[in-house]
Amino acid sequence: MATRATTYIGDDWLVGEGEELSVENPTTEATIEVVRSASTTQVDAAVRAANAAFGGWRKLSTGDRAHVLQQAANQLETHTDEIARIMTIEGGKPLLENRDEIGWCVACLRFYSELARTSEGTVIPPIESTQLALVLKEPIGVVGAIVPWNYPLLLLFWKLAPALAAGNVVIVKPSELTPLSTVRVFELALAHLPTGVAQLVIGAGTVGQSLVEHPDVHCIAFTGSTPTGQWIARTAADTMKRLNLELGGKDAFIVCDDITDEVLDTAARGGVWAAYLNAGQVCTSAERFYVHASVYDDYVDRFVHHANAIRIGDPLADGTDLGPMVSAAQRERTERHVGDARDRGASVLTGGERFGDRGWFYRPTVLVDIGDDALVLDEETFGPVAPIVRVGSLDEAIARANASRYGLGANVYTRRLDYAMQCLRELRAGTVWINDPLTDNDAGPFGGFKMSGQGRELGAEGLEAFRETKHVHLDWEAQPKDWWYPY
Ligand code: NAD
Repeated sequence: MATRATTYIGDDWLVGEGEELSVENPTTEATIEVVRSASTTQVDAAVRAANAAFGGWRKLSTGDRAHVLQQAANQLETHTDEIARIMTIEGGKPLLENRDEIGWCVACLRFYSELARTSEGTVIPPIESTQLALVLKEPIGVVGAIVPWNYPLLLLFWKLAPALAAGNVVIVKPSELTPLSTVRVFELALAHLPTGVAQLVIGAGTVGQSLVEHPDVHCIAFTGSTPTGQWIARTAADTMKRLNLELGGKDAFIVCDDITDEVLDTAARGGVWAAYLNAGQVCTSAERFYVHASVYDDYVDRFVHHANAIRIGDPLADGTDLGPMVSAAQRERTERHVGDARDRGASVLTGGERFGDRGWFYRPTVLVDIGDDALVLDEETFGPVAPIVRVGSLDEAIARANASRYGLGANVYTRRLDYAMQCLRELRAGTVWINDPLTDNDAGPFGGFKMSGQGRELGAEGLEAFRETKHVHLDWEAQPKDWWYPY
């Protein structure tokens, strides 16, 4: 069968001229489609088309840009079911979660099209009364958006929506594991934008590298692993690109001693969801539980009960809570972490094994009695594993939570105001969720401390990430100044 045109440059759909890419279904392990990556020459053509488009797009008023982006949002919303199905087939997330993801993308597009209309800078006090001083916000230019597979559209729109609304043009590089949903989103919505404003180059890391290394790409917005982010930061220094890096995490989940009875059950359900959502493949998955000794046994019992109630299976079927992991490699990393914890004496209270004989499924797993040096308490697992550790005080929980090189998010369950205040002040993380795990808000910045990244997506900060700042100083009298030569 002829290879489909899946690369979008200028306003042409092209067959990639790079290597073949086999996209696989993680539920069946069957190949869904073989597509071709973009070549370096094609990436270069996209960069030229983007630079040619930039002048026209940035000159539009923010209102006109908002109009175009709102139409794209409408297209996306209309085709939610079709796109969600493709996402589930290539990524393994349950259909319901993918429908939600598209809803969040639509909301994000709408949010930024309107936010960009509210301000293009500020007027500041000048030095003298015959002057005007402005701080103008301008687009940066060509943005390379490099996206992972776990939320292939959401993490794309967190970049694309603010970047385009601010007047930039964008070249998108989706993950090699999940490019097909992004191709469909371009066919249905983004390819309708003016020529060169949004383009698509598919392929593996080497295609992303071409964008990072290209001198005429001015900003890289990246979500992915910390090692890739470090490489990008080093390489982008050569061309002094603006960077926004959303990287790995090892989020803590703290349960305080005041949480008992009904709320303890809620905290267990919340913990189960935070640990196993999308098979634990969320950058803010709860990966380390620190539970006060006074409620520990009860919490663990309830946690295991709710973990065992998760319906694992075909992600396209109604009523499935948990699908497969995205790839064999991801599952192997999870198995390595669980194996290492076992070797160091940890007990597996549930899970700890594969599910079924086809597809990259792994059962929701609960670990206890884990050695402090176990990988599962240190490295990002990115799988459905909840290590639950007993702590003697909130101070200890916070100290352990902060003793990580990552600092993306942190969760806390408490009804005590003093505990909540201590946590929100002392936890070293980009987001602290108290009694409501993993809830994102378009208006609230998202990103990490420490090795979890640089910059923020979402919120006003997420728009600022795609704007240059220009100071304008204007004197309308044009008189000579007495501090000039001669002294
Ligand atoms: P990854 O770093 O392997 O790949 C991410 C993207 O970068 C892919 O599109 C990949 O093709 C591309 N890429 C790989 N090497 C590259 C290079 N040298 N130059 C340019 N691009 C390159 O990550 P992944 O496995 O796809 O995603 C999982 C990781 O993403 C986890 O570590 C997770 O924590 C992180 N993540 C972070 C956030 C966040 O917001 N902080 C959100 C989701 C996922």
